[in-house]
Amino acid sequence: MRFRQLVSHHRSLFNIPIVGITGSNGKTIVKEWLFQVLKDDFNIVRSPRSYNSQIGVPLSVWQINPENNLGIFEAGISQKGEMSLLERIIRPNIGIFTYLGDAHDAGFENKHEKLAEKLALFEHCQTLIYCLDQTDVDQFIQENYKGKIISWSLNGKGIVNFEIFKSDLSIRIQANFPRECFEVVVPFTDQASLMNICHVIVATYHFNIAPEKIISRISSLSSIVMRVGIKEGINNCMLIDDTYNADFDSLHIALQFLQQQSKNLKNTLVLSDLLQSGILADTLYNKVAKLLIKYNIYKLITIGTESERLGKLLDVLDSHVLYRHFKSSKSFLQHFHSSDFNQETILVKGARDFQLEDIVRSLSKRSHKTALHVDLSALIHNLNVYARLLQPNVKIMAMVKASAYGAGSDEIAKLLQYHNVDYLCVAYTDEGVELRKAGIHLPIMVLNSDESTLELAYQYNLEPEIYSLGLLEALIKQMPVANGQLGVHIKLDTGMNRLGYQAPDLDQLIERLLENPQLIVKSIFTHLAASEDPNEDSFTHLQFEKFQDMTNKITTMLGIEPLLHVLNTSGIGRFKQYQLNMVRLGIGLYGYDANNQISNQLKTVHTFKATVSQVKTIAANETVGYGRRGKTDKVAVIANN
Ligand SMILES: *Cc1c(COP(=O)(O)O)cnc(C)c1O
Repeated sequence: MRFRQLVSHHRSLFNIPIVGITGSNGKTIVKEWLFQVLKDDFNIVRSPRSYNSQIGVPLSVWQINPENNLGIFEAGISQKGEMSLLERIIRPNIGIFTYLGDAHDAGFENKHEKLAEKLALFEHCQTLIYCLDQTDVDQFIQENYKGKIISWSLNGKGIVNFEIFKSDLSIRIQANFPRECFEVVVPFTDQASLMNICHVIVATYHFNIAPEKIISRISSLSSIVMRVGIKEGINNCMLIDDTYNADFDSLHIALQFLQQQSKNLKNTLVLSDLLQSGILADTLYNKVAKLLIKYNIYKLITIGTESERLGKLLDVLDSHVLYRHFKSSKSFLQHFHSSDFNQETILVKGARDFQLEDIVRSLSKRSHKTALHVDLSALIHNLNVYARLLQPNVKIMAMVKASAYGAGSDEIAKLLQYHNVDYLCVAYTDEGVELRKAGIHLPIMVLNSDESTLELAYQYNLEPEIYSLGLLEALIKQMPVANGQLGVHIKLDTGMNRLGYQAPDLDQLIERLLENPQLIVKSIFTHLAASEDPNEDSFTHLQFEKFQDMTNKITTMLGIEPLLHVLNTSGIGRFKQYQLNMVRLGIGLYGYDANNQISNQLKTVHTFKATVSQVKTIAANETVGYGRRGKTDKVAVIANN
């Protein structure tokens, strides 16, 4: 009790806006995203991880210091009477109510009582943000809450109204505030994330952040799960390391990520006890058991004490999950045989205290001393930098040719698919086949098809670029008799003088396409030879003119409206007027752009790391290595790998 009073007094020393967040789900994510979106404008103190309990809240609030000008804290409860205790410590002046779940919590008589209890957090709030579409929540707030309300709705009934457009794999949210409207492209597709983002948009706007900033920051929100690492494991396993925290919400996100990354291998979960943010253990683990079945977990290993009950719960649910339990990471390691794990995708998920990092270490493939590291969150950051340069409705084709510029294409393609790019492009058919086998369903364009690989194109629905009459004839010849149909892309040569149709061949191309309507022209494109070089701009404009002339002829004569695209990375920023329907983003995704203004905003994706084995000092005029190639012109300190 003493500590509570001390913290309550500490809180009273600060007269700053404090956001209090509660609800059945989404508290931590809303808190973390709100932090990400506001961190450039405020010096923010927030709850660490999911510290929202009777112990976690005082520890969080205790951190406020005189530099902070905004606090964001979450609160969770399991019984009657608890929220008012938390309210007295947090004293929020702005409230966010995320969502009221249906689950019956043992600590409450009924849903109404649970709601009343949760809303006690907002007793002294001046402003309360909530979703009006939950009618029982709305009714209760209307009747009992006295402060200012900012309700939002997806059905046009709120003070703020959102419309969600799921078009062509990209998700946009239109935010209609009383005085202005704007549209945000969101990097997530699941319903829960969209709801959480709506809360974040309303709260950010309430802090008078300009819509342009909201748009750009929301679009680059990183999924909380991006903190996890993907590693190569022993015996061809893949490891997902998420040993940062463990509560129900973050487990759910991690399982989604597992499903997204899993290569149809068996999915294994190593799980510590979960933080019981106000839920009784049985209720919590029952929910977890159902989740594990839903996500097709093949093998489950629990670490701790509470999580042991998962075994029985899974039995009751008649599941076939293989199950083992250990009291601690140490006891797991004592029984560990590397041969127990084979070709599995292993998610290791747990709270810090359980030291699951020791388990991760023993499941990891002995790391090479020299390795290429690929930063996936940097890649998504770069994607968003370019997405912001696009006019509305311009699609993105991400170039993952040459193994995603050396980064390994499956993981990257999956991530890009998750982040709603519209198209992928590979150099060769077999790269496309690999992606299909890894579960990629985005349309895929193939740059260098040849006769010998067209059968695979049909089989795996890979869309070849057609660049010559010869290739077109081969495509027609190999078309399967039954329901043969294939998307193709016409590549025009407008001055690059590499692959592509030239003007004199167009008549024949058009004639053959008219005769073969099973080949569906998805797009027409050309490649610019020098889009990065201002000295060559007149040539670039000329290429574009040629492209337009040739395209007009094709579309008019075929009576079609395919996607048109010409720009590669360096063209995107320099020729906004040529963005057409789509751009082809290559090297920029990986952090390189010839334009400094853009390249300054990009993050490095690839890092080459090597271990230094020895450092030594050598005199001037010595040589290093074979053939005496390296020469020192002064005394030098050198490192050997
Ligand atoms: C590689 C490639 C691109 C991407 O070029 P970047 O300069 O890496 O953005 C675009 N279009 C075609 C046809 C390509 O082969």
